[in-house]
Amino acid sequence: MRILLIEDEPDVARWLMRALRQSGIASEHAPTARLGQALASGAEFDVVVLDLQLPDQHGFDWLSEMRAKGLRTPVLVLTAQGALHDRVEGLHRGADDYLTKPFELAELEARLAALHRRSQGRAQAMVTCGSLRFDSNHPSFWLGDRLLALTPREHAALEALLARAGTPLGKSRLAERVFPLDSTVGPDAIEQVLHRLRQKLQGSDLRIVTVRGLGYMLEAQAA
Ligand code: CA
Repeated sequence: MRILLIEDEPDVARWLMRALRQSGIASEHAPTARLGQALASGAEFDVVVLDLQLPDQHGFDWLSEMRAKGLRTPVLVLTAQGALHDRVEGLHRGADDYLTKPFELAELEARLAALHRRSQGRAQAMVTCGSLRFDSNHPSFWLGDRLLALTPREHAALEALLARAGTPLGKSRLAERVFPLDSTVGPDAIEQVLHRLRQKLQGSDLRIVTVRGLGYMLEAQAA
């Protein structure tokens, strides 16, 4: 695994470079966004570790520019503690994961390994239906270029429906996916989840239709 570390704090960078080397991970260091861009453009890395507060450019702007130029390398963003906003913004800008400073080396290594594994299966990681995209790398749903905010149950329901888009999915099969550990939920519970999902898809080309006797079906309407 080869890592590009873009980080301007000399102490943090020195510590990380040494620690990664000891773990057998080859890494190159760029203390500025500009040098990071040159390195990322000139060589193949498995993961980019990106600090946000860089002297010459904000990390998010660096990321947007590089994604626009076609950089496909997974990017792990280092965020400040409690900066929830940064995590959301990071996903919009094309980050694949984030880690809050300060962090344990073991956690960084685990995430680098996970990103590396995921990137190798990236080709089939995107599932679409109409303007809806599911990115199993994150995993997250996008409606056009808008990230859909879903509860875990809504997420599970939409994932199950998308996997069978255009074909009805039985109510009990759907309930198993949405409430896997909960046998006490009544039949109305799934209706409530679908009701909220339908609201969130309103105004788009996607519809969740009820197919009498067969279940529910996600379909995209032709424009
Ligand atoms: Ca910094």
